[in-house]
Amino acid sequence: MAKKNINPNLNPESFRDALASVRKDGKRNWVYPKKVKGFFYKYRTYLSWLLLAILFLGPFIKVDGRPYMLLNIFERKFIIFGAAFWPQDTHLLIFLLLIFFVFIILFTVVFGRVWCGWACPQTLFMEMVFRKIEYLIEGDANQQRTLNEGPWTGEKIWKKGLKISVFGLISLLIGHLVMAYLIGIDQVIQIVTQPPTAHLAGFIGLLVFSGIFMFVFSWFREQACIVVCPYGRLQGVLLDDNSINVMYNYVRGEPRSPIRKQAAEIAPKGDCIDCGLCVQVCPTGIDIRNGTQMECVNCTACIDACDEVMIKVDRPVGLIRYASENSIKQGFQKLFTGRVKGYTFLLMLLVAAFISLIATREDLEGTITRFPGMTYQARPDGKVSNLYNITLINKTFEPQSVTIVSMADGMEVEIVGDTNWVLEPQTKFEGRFFLVKEQSDVKVPQEKVHLVLSAEGVEFDDIETNFMAPVGGK
Ligand code: SF4
Ligand code: SF4
Repeated sequence: MAKKNINPNLNPESFRDALASVRKDGKRNWVYPKKVKGFFYKYRTYLSWLLLAILFLGPFIKVDGRPYMLLNIFERKFIIFGAAFWPQDTHLLIFLLLIFFVFIILFTVVFGRVWCGWACPQTLFMEMVFRKIEYLIEGDANQQRTLNEGPWTGEKIWKKGLKISVFGLISLLIGHLVMAYLIGIDQVIQIVTQPPTAHLAGFIGLLVFSGIFMFVFSWFREQACIVVCPYGRLQGVLLDDNSINVMYNYVRGEPRSPIRKQAAEIAPKGDCIDCGLCVQVCPTGIDIRNGTQMECVNCTACIDACDEVMIKVDRPVGLIRYASENSIKQGFQKLFTGRVKGYTFLLMLLVAAFISLIATREDLEGTITRFPGMTYQARPDGKVSNLYNITLINKTFEPQSVTIVSMADGMEVEIVGDTNWVLEPQTKFEGRFFLVKEQSDVKVPQEKVHLVLSAEGVEFDDIETNFMAPVGGK
């Protein structure tokens, strides 16, 4: 990642030697980001309302009584935008994931971490829900610091108690939301409305998820983005000098110096007045003036803070802004680089392959295999038979009545057990059947047979297998 550290007394990369949220002794350096307001914060707030509404309404949206989104990893059953995917559709899901990853890579190469700052659920909940509640209860950064460092007074107990209770309730809500995406809203309602013992695994799942969210949003916070998130850690390889990021315009801002020195003309004049506000509002505690850093989640708080300062000192806004390293250094922005073209081509290939796979995907699937370890059975009535296993999958949302017919001359299908093959929606069926033929009609020891499978009278598969029997009964 491109970078500048303009202080000549420092190693240009020395700021990378330490994390802002970790002290020299290895203990946590609690980040108290100052409240921010401004253009970007306003629109991030509006967008967060929209995204949170979509996120919370998602599990309640049903089409023909089934969920519109379901990510049931336990049963490997997925419904994505109303389309159901079975374990047998794993190749489709892998394609979908590949498309998603290539899209994210392409998007990041061009627009940097816009996702992190504007749409990532971690940032949405942390900055737009939990942080706002914290400001409301404990006040701005300085008041929070004073409260935390002060003794346990009645006021502190009340404020901390209230905050933990509200955080706990919201974490419970998010825990239920995640479970609703995993097992469906109906299941979650059952878990909530029935005794815990009736759905012990689900109940424990709800508690575990709620506990994880409470831990993440009340304590772990920015560490999730810095230490855990794989996307954040990939930035070093995804971003280049043409990627658009939250950047400090060091060409315009340096040499920085306090405004009083600039006014007295005892310091050279860059536009940065070294007020430190961009650092104080940063939720990850970094100084964007050091350049692009892995810890930066592109939340735009420093842009808003600096713009406010620039207006106050009557200088143009945009000292910190969305820009690429090249647009700052060389004054031009190149969007369609070789990398972008390469990723776009790959993305188009993957999308085309996915569309063709979806177009040829079957809603009903049948698999027929010979019963293992058996060749043929000679029957006392002069007939000979072979035994087969059949597996049928109904991926549709309607019941399907399935029939099987042999296309070979003089060969009959004899179903073992219940002859009424009705597959419930979204179910798998396993059964057995014999192919039976008069022994005297057997002309070859191994005969190819076509078996036609139909559902509700409409053919959906034609499977070739073979029938084995001794010629002339030998
Ligand atoms: S907020 Fe702007 S002026 Fe103040 S230190 Fe940061 S970059 Fe410089
Ligand atoms: S450097 Fe600016 S954009 Fe990046 S995380 Fe900090 S405040 Fe947000």
